[in-house]
Amino acid sequence: MVWKLMLSPTAQKLVDLFVKFPTVGRRTAQRFVFYLIKSDQSEVNDLIEAIKNLKNKIKLCDWCGKSYETEQQINGLCAICSNNQRDKTVVCVIEKEVDLETIEKTGQFKGLYFIWDTNNEEQQLKKLSNRIKKETVKEIILALDPTMDGRQLALKIQRSLETLAVKLTQLGRGLPVGGEIEYADQETITSALEGRK
Ligand SMILES: [Zn+2]
Repeated sequence: MVWKLMLSPTAQKLVDLFVKFPTVGRRTAQRFVFYLIKSDQSEVNDLIEAIKNLKNKIKLCDWCGKSYETEQQINGLCAICSNNQRDKTVVCVIEKEVDLETIEKTGQFKGLYFIWDTNNEEQQLKKLSNRIKKETVKEIILALDPTMDGRQLALKIQRSLETLAVKLTQLGRGLPVGGEIEYADQETITSALEGRK
């Protein structure tokens, strides 16, 4: 017989919310809840306050989807998109914001990013193609994870943009198959960017 943990409805409600977090399974969610039950009231208050601030003070960039503190924003754009030094003719499509941080750390990429939102694929494709038509985007780099999902997404984007006058490239070799960009080291990312085709 499988032993099943019986939680009170109040605790269970929170477990169900934590389970929605990326990489958090039921067991971890339960640990979080037990941790909170034992925590001081002040620590719980800090957590509630921090979550509230996250939603009040952090917004997503209108163009690339990167998060930013609202006081740093310029016309709804993040610091990268509103930076005139960035090369607006090259757009790097990534799956997660953490990939942006990984690529930025190499200091090798001077273009703009576009964080793919899987919940809004049609709208995302439209946004990309509009940008290509209206602005002078010359190259779209698909810096997607070398996983099944990443490959399928690359195909979808290629098909929908193939009639437009834009060069579509993908990261070169070096990224481990099935791996994720966020875990790749700077050298690997740099050579994958240089070797794009
Ligand atoms: Zn942006």
